[in-house]
Amino acid sequence: MTDNAIKIAYYDNTDSTEKRQWWQACLSDRLGPCTLVPLTEEAALSCEFALVWYPPKGRLAALDNLKVIISLGQGVDHLISDPDLPEQAAIVRLVDPDMSHALSQWVILAILDHLRDGPYYRKMAEQKRFEGRDQRQTRNLPVAVYGMGAIGLEIARRLAGLGFDVSGWSRSERQFPEPIKSAHGRTGFENLLASCDIHVCILPLTPETTHLFDSKSFAQMKKGAYFINGGRGKQVVEPDLLAAIRSGHLAGACLDVFATEPLPADHPFWEEPAITIWPHVAAQTNPDTAAAQVAAAITAAANNQPLSNLVDKKRGY
Ligand code: NDP
Repeated sequence: MTDNAIKIAYYDNTDSTEKRQWWQACLSDRLGPCTLVPLTEEAALSCEFALVWYPPKGRLAALDNLKVIISLGQGVDHLISDPDLPEQAAIVRLVDPDMSHALSQWVILAILDHLRDGPYYRKMAEQKRFEGRDQRQTRNLPVAVYGMGAIGLEIARRLAGLGFDVSGWSRSERQFPEPIKSAHGRTGFENLLASCDIHVCILPLTPETTHLFDSKSFAQMKKGAYFINGGRGKQVVEPDLLAAIRSGHLAGACLDVFATEPLPADHPFWEEPAITIWPHVAAQTNPDTAAAQVAAAITAAANNQPLSNLVDKKRGY
C-alpha cells in the first residue's frame, strides 16, 4: 500500500480474499493505487468510500468520514434494511449491462425449460424412455414482467423478440418500446395476474413489494400459470406459493431468490418437483465489467460531482 492510495472499505458475504484482491486490481487499473480494506477491520473506520454486499448491520455507521456507499450488486435492500445506515452517505448501486444480459438469459432458460417440458424429458432420459409429449403452442403467449428497470426492460425486450406477448409492470406510469405493453399500479398488477401465463418478478425489495405475491395474487393467476422469481425472496409468501402449486392451480415455479438464504435444508421447496431451485446465481457481479462504474462513482464523489445510479433512500430503490 502506498501512502497516497485511495482506501475503500470492502465487504462481501463470502469472506473471499481472492474476490477482494480481484476488485482491488480492477479498481487500481482505473483509479491508480487503491487499497480495499476489510470493513470489519479498524483501518476501515477512516474510509470515505465503502464497496459492500450485505455488510453487518450497524457497521457502516462507525465510518465517520463515509461519503458514498457503493452496493456490490444492483439490489440495495441489504443496505436500506440497516436501521443505522449513516444519513450523510449517498448510496450508489451498480447498473451493469452484463447483469441485465445474464438475468435475461436465466429468465429465458427458465421459461423455455418449462414450456418445452425440460424436467419431464430429463426424467424420461434417466429411464431411457424415448417418449414425446404434445408441444405447447407458445406463439404470442402472454408473459408479465414485474419490475421494468434496468434488468426488467432488457428481459421484456428479449422475450418480445422470442415471440411472446410481453407486458411490463412498473410503479410509475411508463411507456415501453413496441411491442411491449405497459401496466402500473394495483389495477395494472391485477390485470396482468389474470391475463398472463408466465409471471416474471424482477422487482427491488421495498415495503411495497414485500409479500406482493401471496395467496390472493396466486389465486388471481390463470390455472396452469408459471411463476419465476429473480427479484428477492421476501416478495413472495413462500407457503402461499407452495400451496398454489400443490393444489394444482399453478404449474410450478423457478426461483433464484428466497426469504432465507441459503435455503434451509429442511425447506419444503426442496421436496417439490415442480419448483426449480437456483442458489441466487441468476446474475453475478463481475468486477471486470462493473469496476468502471465503481471507479466513476469514487472519482465523481472525490471531485464533488453528481453521482450516477444514485439510490432514492426513501423510495427504497
Ligand atoms: P431498477 O431500480 O432499475 O428497476 C426497478 C423497477 O421496479 C422499476 O421499473 C420500478 O418502477 C419497479 N418498481 C419498484 N417498486 C415498484 C412497485 N411498488 N410497484 C411496481 N413497480 C415497482 O432495478 P433493476 O432492474 O436494476 O433490479 C431489480 C432487482 O433485481 C434488484 O433490486 C434486485 O432485487 C434484483 N436482482 C437480482 C439478481 C439475481 O441474481 N437474482 C441480480 C441483480 C438484481 P419505476 O420504473 O416506476 O421506477
